[in-house]
Amino acid sequence: MKQTLCSITSNVEVMPGIHLMWIEAPDIAAAAQPGQFITVRCGDFTLRRPFSIHQSSPLTGEDPGKGEIAILFKVTGKGTLWLSQRKAGQKIDILGPLGKGFAIAPKSKNLLLVAGGIGLAPLIFLMQQALSQHQITLIHGASTAAQLHYNNCKLAAIGYQRVQFIPVTEDGSTGQKGKATDVLPDFLDWADQIYACGPVGMYKAMTQMSLGANRSKLKLRKCQVSLEVRMGCGFGACYGCTINTKKGLRHVCRDGPVFELDDIIWQEVRI
Ligand SMILES: Cc1cc2nc3c(=O)[nH]c(=O)nc-3n(C[C@H](O)[C@H](O)[C@H](O)COP(=O)(O)OP(=O)(O)OC[C@H]3O[C@@H](n4cnc5c(N)ncnc54)[C@H](O)[C@@H]3O)c2cc1C
Repeated sequence: MKQTLCSITSNVEVMPGIHLMWIEAPDIAAAAQPGQFITVRCGDFTLRRPFSIHQSSPLTGEDPGKGEIAILFKVTGKGTLWLSQRKAGQKIDILGPLGKGFAIAPKSKNLLLVAGGIGLAPLIFLMQQALSQHQITLIHGASTAAQLHYNNCKLAAIGYQRVQFIPVTEDGSTGQKGKATDVLPDFLDWADQIYACGPVGMYKAMTQMSLGANRSKLKLRKCQVSLEVRMGCGFGACYGCTINTKKGLRHVCRDGPVFELDDIIWQEVRI
């Protein structure tokens, strides 16, 4: 974990109210694992704001990058509004990589990624790292077509043409009409592991599914989910993000943000 003042390489509003920001952060890019996050000091706010690492482009590796990380964020309040107004070349104070990310079991081949809205952010990094060794299906649910950050063409343009992309919109403007969890059962037999990031309502729907009659749906019990609860310090020094799990009290920032779906006591989780 490192706190650094980093240059913003670019900050683009990729959809209404949603920004993709690339940040020059070679140390974080080199160390980051999918599912981990950074915190950003947003203006004068005391509490730093957490954001999943959306993509990483480390300087070393088979395909050396630029030593940058990206975050994909939605403007929801004053902190994210401040961040959305930063320009390329300006510096921001970031801390990371933080938390424990997603884990892929050695025998797993088929990975099912389920994104609800801006929950897409950490799953793209997972996809980026896993693609060379795994088959990937990405279900992305959004309210309408304009809220889907990716489509097959965009994924192909950035080198992810092997990913099976399943768009789902609540208004049916593209892909299947409904929610990401409506199409999820179609892939349960195929998936060796499931990774999800989205609103708590989506996780509760998935929990209900895992208790259903269809035994193959029990696979959902092996599902890893990323929790975006409100946080204080972001590294386990305060108790701001403590949740109750079947294994006892856990800090989302230090023990998570990735947990097993089945370990969480959902009725007690507050965002
Ligand atoms: C581990 C983690 C990873 C995250 N990754 C991303 C990401 O990749 N992209 C992204 O857009 N957001 C992400 N979030 C949520 C993001 O941190 C909040 O949206 C942000 O802190 C809001 O700051 P604000 O000052 O703009 O809003 P505030 O003024 O603090 O709040 C405005 C509104 O946002 C809601 N809000 C605040 N914090 C959260 C939160 N943690 N989760 C959900 N709603 C919240 C509030 O309830 C309120 O309605 C993540 C959160 C966590 C804990």
